Parts: sequence; structure tokens; C-alpha cells
Amino acid sequence: MNEIAANIAAVRERIAAAARHAGRPEGEIRLVGVTKTHPAELVAQAIEAGLTDFGENRVQEAEPKIAALADRRAGVAWHLIGHLQRNKAKKAAELFDIIHSLDSLRLAQALDRAAAERPALPVLLQVNVSGEASKEGFALAGWEERPALLDAFFGEVEALLALPHLCVGGLMTIAPWGPDPEAARPAFRSARMLRDRLAQRFPQADWSALSMGMTDDFAVAIGEGATLVRVGRAIFGARAPAF
Ligand SMILES: *Cc1c(COP(=O)(O)O)cnc(C)c1O
Repeated sequence: MNEIAANIAAVRERIAAAARHAGRPEGEIRLVGVTKTHPAELVAQAIEAGLTDFGENRVQEAEPKIAALADRRAGVAWHLIGHLQRNKAKKAAELFDIIHSLDSLRLAQALDRAAAERPALPVLLQVNVSGEASKEGFALAGWEERPALLDAFFGEVEALLALPHLCVGGLMTIAPWGPDPEAARPAFRSARMLRDRLAQRFPQADWSALSMGMTDDFAVAIGEGATLVRVGRAIFGARAPAF
């Protein structure tokens, strides 16, 4: 077994343990390997090892990588997990199978136009429930105590759900970084509770997906209901400092 395959197996074991601990079926949790900064050859090794889902942050970086792996495109899903600029919506709708980082109604409208020529584009709404200035996402810090903020968000969600070429599947969040993974728990819990509120308010849509948890905190995220974990370093190793 090569190193990538061994890393994937180890992460899968940790996912299974976290699921058991949470009393959840392991099959509910999908592992997305985050390949930003890593070359297509490493992605190919991960595909060999049976990984089917890959996350990239940037359209420009993903485009040549996805092209280099075109002969293995069948059975592989590419996830856009980083902030998307509206002027790249068309390219993103061509390249990706799902967008985790839908963070404004204007971006949703651009993606809806861009997805007109393809099957409905699966999207997750990225929510910022921790209020960190550096995080993208719908600004929802403290939504539990801010009914006006929540109402305004519901208004945007209503408009978003009316877009014919997008298919909303749930929420994505990034927890504040910190040395203690437990510190991420309140943000994950808040995102899950917000998802539950959305499911109550908009039962016509699918809210089952919760994309949350990375190398340092995915076990905590699984405990709070994550269905997609985005894991980079634990599979592919350290990245260059710029990332
Ligand atoms: C880079 C990145 C990840 C993966 O982070 P690791 O700590 O390497 O597991 C997950 N989600 C997003 C949005 C990222 O940008």
C-alpha cells in the first residue's frame, strides 16, 4: 500500500470510530479529499486507492487538474469548496459536480444562469456562524438571538430556492481555527441547528447535507452531524505555507 492509500485508510478508520461514537451509521459520512496545491499525480493515487470525491478551492487551479484526470472523470466527483467570484461562475458550473461555497444570492443568480446548459447544479449554502471576519459565507453569527438576521436570511433562501438550475442540498461551514478541536464544536452545532430550522421553514427543499470538519476537527464535526468532511493534510500531507 502506498502512503496515500495508507492515509486514506487511516482517515476512514477515524471516520468510522467517530460515527460509532456518535451512534451514526458510517455510510452517512462522505470523505472529500482536499487536493489544493497538490498535483494531479497524487489525486490519481487517491483514485487508485478508491477515493471518489475531491475538493478544490480555486477554479484556476482546479481546471488543469481536472483536465489532466479527464480519463478518470467517470465515478469521480469534484467539489468546489473555496470562495467563488461571480465572473468564474460559468467555468465553475462546467467543471464541478457540487459547489459547497455558495455564499450570496448574487452568486446564486450567476450560477443559476451558468448552469442553464447542464443538469441542475448541486449547491450547499456556506454559513458563517462564528463571525470571524476572515471567513466567507452568509453572515449568521449569533442567529439564535437575532430574529431579524434570520428573517433576512430566510428571505434570501426563498429567492435562492426559486432558481431553476440550482439544487440546494444543505449547508457548509468552516469552524474558527484553534489548537483544540473541541473549540470548533459550538460552530458545528450552530450550523446543524440552523440547518434544522431551514428544514422546518422550507420543507420542500433537501437540507440533508452538512459539509463541516477538516483534518483537525472532523471527528468533532461528525459528532455534530457532518455528512461531508473535507480532509486535506491528513491524506495528502502538509501544504506550502501560502495556503
Ligand atoms: C483547505 C481546506 C480544507 C482542508 O483542510 P485540511 O486542514 O488540510 O484538512 C477543508 N475545507 C476548506 C474550505 C479548505 O479550504
